[in-house]
Amino acid sequence: MREGVPAAPAVAYVALGANLGDPVATVRAAALALAGLPDSRLTAVSSLYRTAPVGLLGQPDFINAVAALETALPPSVLLNELFAIEARFGRQRSIRNAPRTLDLDLLLHGATRCDDGRLTLPHPRMHERAFVLAPLAEIAPQLEIPGRGPVAGLLGACADQRIERVTVHTAAA
Ligand code: ADP
Ligand code: MG
Repeated sequence: MREGVPAAPAVAYVALGANLGDPVATVRAAALALAGLPDSRLTAVSSLYRTAPVGLLGQPDFINAVAALETALPPSVLLNELFAIEARFGRQRSIRNAPRTLDLDLLLHGATRCDDGRLTLPHPRMHERAFVLAPLAEIAPQLEIPGRGPVAGLLGACADQRIERVTVHTAAA
């Protein structure tokens, strides 16, 4: 990139997940935090989904969602911003798949493909997880995951994974 010339914005997709504390409130608040990222515009947030834990069983269900951003931040800078938001929400890193107050994963950043140890794009497990693919298909039904295929077809292959959309009950007026 030439100095002083802003990067052309890319569409990035971020997965939000939480299963400690009040996960519905956390995921909603985290979406608002994404809206405040520099050089970025939040363009869509999916419904919330309740899903069974993957990998480490015997922990509370997760609340998951996916957000779309138009961003001029390069992938590694955006990942740092996501880590900073996780930290603000009290995330303690222990083992992979452990319960967490907030997990933010960078799913896609335009058509970028990379694997440098710290950041892998597309996210290496997104194509096999209903809790990512269902909310992603809701906000980007035509999306193709580079190297993996159309999101709708990938979701069809996850039919055995338990997932339900969270119904929000509002008091009658
Ligand atoms: P997980 O989300 O897999 O349960 P963590 O959130 O603790 O686990 O992330 C583990 C590591 O995954 C982080 O240190 C981060 O550097 C790395 N990582 C690699 N690619 C990505 C990505 N696309 N999005 C988020 N983290 C990633
Ligand atoms: Mg993560």
